[in-house]
Amino acid sequence: MPEGHTIHRAARDQRPMLVGQALDIASPQGRFAEGADLLDGQTCTGIDAYGKHLLYRFAGGAVLHVHLGLFGQFRTSKRPAAEPRGAVRVRMMSSSHVVDINGPTICEVLDEAGVLALTSRIGPDVLRADADPERAWQRIAKSRTAIGQLLMDQSVIAGIGNIYRSEILWRQRLHPQVQGKSVTREKYDSIWRDAVNLLEIGVKNNAIITVDGVKKSRSRYGERVNIFGKPFCPACATDIRKFEIANRRVFACETCQPPAPLADVPT
Ligand SMILES: [Zn+2]
Repeated sequence: MPEGHTIHRAARDQRPMLVGQALDIASPQGRFAEGADLLDGQTCTGIDAYGKHLLYRFAGGAVLHVHLGLFGQFRTSKRPAAEPRGAVRVRMMSSSHVVDINGPTICEVLDEAGVLALTSRIGPDVLRADADPERAWQRIAKSRTAIGQLLMDQSVIAGIGNIYRSEILWRQRLHPQVQGKSVTREKYDSIWRDAVNLLEIGVKNNAIITVDGVKKSRSRYGERVNIFGKPFCPACATDIRKFEIANRRVFACETCQPPAPLADVPT
């Protein structure tokens, strides 16, 4: 699944392609034909990311809401437009560029009330300048749920996905199964700062880089990580433990991140 930095990067890349222009909007695949008809010809006034949600704003007040989910993807190109590849749900064309969206989980038109309802369901997004970290702290400080699960819950805190989750907790020397309410305020502030720092690096490089002071790798996604998918800890050489929280793989070094006492393990 794309993590938050991917969506903010897409917003950043697509703004100069689309914003300020009247767009030709169609649904080559047909499943978004009605929405495309509604938006076709309108001027795009802004593109905004909230966690993993992307909002394209239009002059008439309508907003196109897209969530890529597990398999969705964006494809951008210059005009002239090539034939749509695969099932293109929505194609947006400015005078210069083509943006295709394939396989999103959500692709819908919202009004202002719908946008407000959506953004109030999403926790503070570590990549947004207007994010309020206090909102996430209020949820975490009261919760018996594992911090490793809370960091992935987009209604608590937005933008952190599966890889960042394991990496941030390792960097903060906190075991993923520690309950939210056992996390100190100081540790939470440190998690928030590290998440902002790492996701900003992710947006800039368009790759997940959680090792300090390195450039992206030459692998397909350019990732550079400490423990996610790794056999042993780069700090202490202990074998990395792999397990699941809420059906998603999580990694931890139980020397650097001592497990919680039994009483603290979430039920
Ligand atoms: Zn270690």
